[in-house]
Amino acid sequence: MKAYRAAILRFVTDLEPRHAALYEEDGLLVVGPNAQGRQVVQAVGHYHDLRTRFPDLVVTHWPGRIIAPGFVDLHSHYPQTNVIGSPAEGLLPWLEKYTFPEEMRFSSSSYSTQAVQFFIEELLRQGVTTALTFATSHPVSVQAFFTEAQKHHMRLITGLCLMDRHAPPDVLNQPAAQGRLDATEQSLLDSEALIRQWHGVDRLGYAITPRFAPSCTEAQLRGAGELAAKYPDVWIQSHVAENKAEIAWARALFPASRSYLATYADFGLMRDRAIYAHCIHFDDDDRALMRDTGAAAAVCPTSNLFLGSGFFDYAGADRVGLEYGLASDVGGGTSFSPFHTMLAAYYVGREGQTKPGLSLSPQHVWWQYTAGAAQALGLDGVVGNLQPGCEADFVVLNPQATPLLARKTALASNLDELLFSMIVLGDDRLVERTVISQAI
Ligand SMILES: [Zn+2]
Repeated sequence: MKAYRAAILRFVTDLEPRHAALYEEDGLLVVGPNAQGRQVVQAVGHYHDLRTRFPDLVVTHWPGRIIAPGFVDLHSHYPQTNVIGSPAEGLLPWLEKYTFPEEMRFSSSSYSTQAVQFFIEELLRQGVTTALTFATSHPVSVQAFFTEAQKHHMRLITGLCLMDRHAPPDVLNQPAAQGRLDATEQSLLDSEALIRQWHGVDRLGYAITPRFAPSCTEAQLRGAGELAAKYPDVWIQSHVAENKAEIAWARALFPASRSYLATYADFGLMRDRAIYAHCIHFDDDDRALMRDTGAAAAVCPTSNLFLGSGFFDYAGADRVGLEYGLASDVGGGTSFSPFHTMLAAYYVGREGQTKPGLSLSPQHVWWQYTAGAAQALGLDGVVGNLQPGCEADFVVLNPQATPLLARKTALASNLDELLFSMIVLGDDRLVERTVISQAI
């Protein structure tokens, strides 16, 4: 057992996210193994109340620091780390000019490995402890990812990118070398082999990953849906309704479906544990389809602002009741930092909303990158929070990390003011350390 004394931020699960944060000015976090030998939160609360229950524990004291749940990033592309900050006129030119040429390099195992190593180190530096991320269409890009992720004991999820049309040949799924199977069949076979090899090993998870409907033939989407039915606890990740040109293309390719989003439902790709990035240009029928199937939205505000895609409609999502959380969307997104993404989410909440004058509360914004994102993944009570039983992934924040942060956070008279100071002024300097739950 280990015990840490500092201020502690966590979330009450059955409260409305706008005011669900619980803050202990002088808190104690007690961590110890569960029945499986995994380090989880054993107790958390006010230092003086808890200390008597654990009189013999050696306490690590971090004065002036805040312990908070490790961040949960709902959508990114680990092979696009080098693509961050590449200028383009919009999504489709950006894919052709920067993204596809970079993704081609992931047919190499060694190239993939060095990219994963950098990606994981960057996640940890920024305080991200759980991530759902894309690989490329090359099976070695998935093997390299899981191999490195396992070494770090992190809860990371990825999958083979399914794309058998409408992109340069080197980024598409490849047919079997002997020529017995075409690229579509081979991609589905590879996906299933990777599920069996990696899903549920340590803290790793597999996600069935159609890139987006226009990049997949009907046969590939159908096969992906069959895998999703056969392996119900595997995740699904894709993109939807990001940009108007993309939507028009998807509608032309799949005219029988009611909407772009409904295409995924028609192929059996909407259910619990399905995460769709963007979800910007939705109508209420789309929102209801998300809600009723249990799928969740990965909101990617820095990416949406950078590529000019539009604004996620928080007011519409809350009106209909679909689940969502925040995501970096590296490399369309411009930062690995949850603080940058949370600030961008706040900007988005101010604009393009069906309910004018909306203002996301700081607690609600923070929740979207922690407990809310975990809930969207079906991992509430597992990660993204520090309630008893949660895996002990946490960050230690230093609100004095910069002169301006120190000056501003000292003025905070309530929790929302403190959190908002860090959301607006924070970056990787705020994250003093990232602690990953270990298995004993
Ligand atoms: Zn994406």
